[in-house]
Amino acid sequence: MHNAANGGLRSAALKDVFDRMRLAPYWWDAAPRVAQSPPPLPDQVDVLVIGAGYTGLCAALVLAKAGRSVLVCEAGFLGAGASTRNGGMLGPSFHKLGVQGLIAHYGVDRTHGILKESIGFVAFVKDLIEDEGIDCDFRRTGRFRAASRRGHYDTMARELESQVAATGIEAELVPREQVREEIGTDRFFGGVRYTIDGGLHPGKYHDGLVRSVISAGATVASHTEVTGIRKAPASFIVTTSRGDFSAGEVVVCTNGYTGSATPWFKRRVLPIRSSLIATEELDAGLIDRLMPTGRMYGDSRRVMAYYRPSSDGKRILFGGRAASADNPVVNARKLRLSMLDVFPELKDVRISHSWSGLVAYAFDHVPHLGCQDGLWYAMGYCGSGVARASYFGTKLGHKILGNGEAGRTAFDDIPMPTKPFYTGNPWFMAPIIQWHRLLDRLGI
Ligand SMILES: Cc1cc2nc3c(=O)[nH]c(=O)nc-3n(C[C@H](O)[C@H](O)[C@H](O)COP(=O)(O)OP(=O)(O)OC[C@H]3O[C@@H](n4cnc5c(N)ncnc54)[C@H](O)[C@@H]3O)c2cc1C
Repeated sequence: MHNAANGGLRSAALKDVFDRMRLAPYWWDAAPRVAQSPPPLPDQVDVLVIGAGYTGLCAALVLAKAGRSVLVCEAGFLGAGASTRNGGMLGPSFHKLGVQGLIAHYGVDRTHGILKESIGFVAFVKDLIEDEGIDCDFRRTGRFRAASRRGHYDTMARELESQVAATGIEAELVPREQVREEIGTDRFFGGVRYTIDGGLHPGKYHDGLVRSVISAGATVASHTEVTGIRKAPASFIVTTSRGDFSAGEVVVCTNGYTGSATPWFKRRVLPIRSSLIATEELDAGLIDRLMPTGRMYGDSRRVMAYYRPSSDGKRILFGGRAASADNPVVNARKLRLSMLDVFPELKDVRISHSWSGLVAYAFDHVPHLGCQDGLWYAMGYCGSGVARASYFGTKLGHKILGNGEAGRTAFDDIPMPTKPFYTGNPWFMAPIIQWHRLLDRLGI
């Protein structure tokens, strides 16, 4: 009887926590998605860009500024993809393989090139935002990556040593006894403080890029899905849900949403769902205690988690792998448990928003850009695409213009692999993620 009563209370309290939760990105409160009627399609354009996320918009910006006629086709509303759904965390996104893993694949010189170039990504976005006058709450906050197990701290220390040797990056180890200077929890065994990382408001950033692209002279057409691309002698014949036209160049910027219109690319990206929750507004004292340095945060659990204060500093946003493809309530419950593992103090706090989107992994864990069968592309940011997509989109624009050095990158000419029988449905990821969740729970 006593237990039943407690159980009843517990589930009532849990229901309360999710009461009135909005199933849409928190970012859309300040940067709402507005209904658009797409403009008429031209008969011919110099360049068609497929996908109006950061990659497509940044490529279009370079091309339109150089005087090309540019049409950006977006299948959904503007910002339908990951670019208005992400955590807004910017960093060099050091390769999942680590410095030694990269060297094993690409050799010392290219690895150092990749790492050094990656360190410049945040400064690149900062300059872009300033040049375009985009007001998107950009701040160089730094990032704290926490060790969730004792052994991970030692691994992080070794990896940091290699990173510093390869790039001179500014970062320091934070031993366990100093962790509370960075984050209000005793959950972690130390960590690494990186100073170059930053945060922004993804919705405002996306809106700003759309404005810049349009004022540079490009046409941006929402609700226009590209359904087919056929090579003609001197151009491409493009079929869309709203009509056909010809394009001199075609740029594929569809990342986690890559579909059947571009089957070669579909076979090379693993679309994986990532989800986020936002808490209700917290007392200033509580958020100062939990995130005293206001950085971007992540930890070394197998099922990746990332978290940050909202850009107005009033809420905590907490993200990770989605548990369900189509149920934001299930995702919110899982993420809340992961959040309480880090911040038990948040147990009575309401969750105000839950949402998700698709990121694109590549089989070799590196982002890719280049030209395949005449189609330009950049994609496969492996979950870290705010800075990378902006940078790669810009590089792609310069490549298409033939701008030599401006288009060159250390990521050039890395073949984009696929696997036998893979057609674009990564069905095998769900059991792998479940397995990782179990290992995390067991502390293995
Ligand atoms: C929940 C979540 C959290 C994330 N957090 C972070 C983070 O904190 N930091 C970070 O660096 N990265 C993060 N990312 C990743 C980052 O958001 C992406 O890597 C980046 O936005 C990719 O930009 P994009 O322009 O390449 O693709 P998208 O923004 O996904 O845009 C691709 C667009 O292509 C359109 N499209 C697809 N097919 C067609 C077609 N046939 N015709 C027309 N249009 C088409 C889609 O509708 C979509 O809008 C996160 C992603 C998610 C989902």
